[in-house]
Amino acid sequence: MTKVIEIGKVKIGGNNPVAIQSMTNTKTEDYTSTLNQINQLYKAGCDLVRVSVPNFEAVKSLKIITKKSPIPVIADIHYDYKLAIESIKNGAKKVRINPGNIGNEQKVKEVIKIAKEYNIPIRVGANSGSIPKELEHLPKVDALCEAALKEVRILEKNGFENIVISVKSSNVKETIQAYEKISQLTNYPLHIGVTEAGTFEWSIVKSSIALGFLLYRGIGDTIRVSIAGDPVNEVRIAKKILISLGLKKGLEVIACPTCSRTEIDVEKWSNLVEEKFSKINKNVKIAILGCVVNGIGEGKDADIGIAGIKKGFILFYKGKIVGEYKEKDILSEVEKYFK
Ligand code: SF4
Repeated sequence: MTKVIEIGKVKIGGNNPVAIQSMTNTKTEDYTSTLNQINQLYKAGCDLVRVSVPNFEAVKSLKIITKKSPIPVIADIHYDYKLAIESIKNGAKKVRINPGNIGNEQKVKEVIKIAKEYNIPIRVGANSGSIPKELEHLPKVDALCEAALKEVRILEKNGFENIVISVKSSNVKETIQAYEKISQLTNYPLHIGVTEAGTFEWSIVKSSIALGFLLYRGIGDTIRVSIAGDPVNEVRIAKKILISLGLKKGLEVIACPTCSRTEIDVEKWSNLVEEKFSKINKNVKIAILGCVVNGIGEGKDADIGIAGIKKGFILFYKGKIVGEYKEKDILSEVEKYFK
């Protein structure tokens, strides 16, 4: 069981739910756009948001962002320990920084002092693209774990144990193996993700395989699906991974693959159902099926099902037919199930 860590109001580790996180891709200096994106992420189901803090202009903006953000904000810092210190003072609830990169021991001590004072965890870790030179001779998985543990040891040596770890690779198998290995070596909570997972389809495939496998094995306390593009998609996919594994409550849409018997546009109606009911915070399975010939049987495990007929839909609850409805009425009839 991993150690429990507090990131503002969100607890990760131990028996806490797996938290979804994402990262803004607006300029942090532009706090209006950044807050706007954070609000979109929050509405999509994001629990934690990371913003990069590359300079002191961004720190000024961070002060406003952390005050107005509906979810805890994590500051992502590279190299400059002063940015880490100022980010904490300006409301960041966690920082991502590798102490090995910030220069000398004194600088590390200063960051730790402030992090302790504000009870702020630090995420340390390694990515497959940034393995330190001295570890490059090791097999990739060992190098990833050793690089992360090196950072952990620097913090522990200075009496700091409020730590989250990541060991991300852009390769699915390496990601799985690195997290399996590190989970055996430490009980700090793990931030899991595939780094540089790529564009939408690649990321869905890689993230679902790697994160799905790890989460199924009980490894992972917070997840990031990284997608080149709109970060709201990251949250939508992360949520679906968690719902699929029963690690989060929510809507699961089942849809038939369609065939020549199809009487309706299954894809269109599946998207409409998803759009209308995706905010539901309980476990509900809705099936959208192209016909009644096989549809009712195929959807009998669903809580609610709609199957296409010539003039509209057959609606059924738990496999039992409730009635026949026209297109214009079907979504409001489905909605009645929730009332
Ligand atoms: S539910 Fe009907 S339309 Fe859909 S795949 Fe099965 S037989 Fe074809």
